Amino acid sequence: MTALLDFARALEFAATRHIDQRRKGVRAEPYVNHLSEVALLVAEATEGKDPVVVIAALLHDTLEDTDASYEEIEQQFGPEVAAVVAETTDDKRLRKAERKQRQIDMAPTASPRAKLVKLADKISNLRSMSVSPPADWPIARKAEYFEWAHAVVAGLRGIDARLEALFDRAYQDGMAQLRGGGK
Ligand code: ZN
Repeated sequence: MTALLDFARALEFAATRHIDQRRKGVRAEPYVNHLSEVALLVAEATEGKDPVVVIAALLHDTLEDTDASYEEIEQQFGPEVAAVVAETTDDKRLRKAERKQRQIDMAPTASPRAKLVKLADKISNLRSMSVSPPADWPIARKAEYFEWAHAVVAGLRGIDARLEALFDRAYQDGMAQLRGGGK
């Protein structure tokens, strides 16, 4: 199976599974826009040379937020992709605060591919938080989100300088906006 065929299948799989989901910001962007952004970030970071990480990026929220199963992903996209998707999936049996702490704690031990996807995911999330923040979030909650993302990314550093710089810019821009009174 060619990488391009796998890519198209993963895009279709993700778009279909997330079909009724929207981002939680005021623009309510289609969820697939988040997935394409994360996939592009890791594709550029790896110069298009690692189809596994790009396909995993497209699928990175399917286990957490849709009815897709690990077995299904493993069967359709192989064990390497499934492993990265599993690594980027929160354990929903844990309470939210525990899940968030776990992301901070587990970041340094993630595989290199999972680190790239996690880093790209945080870049995308912080950009969305600036461009299209959730309408009902007070500034303090947004700031707390930025600080948490920053703490997770501290454990991912050393994997890709360009992505880290993009994250730092998204963090700084977002914090400057919050300090300016938020939007
Ligand atoms: Zn995501």
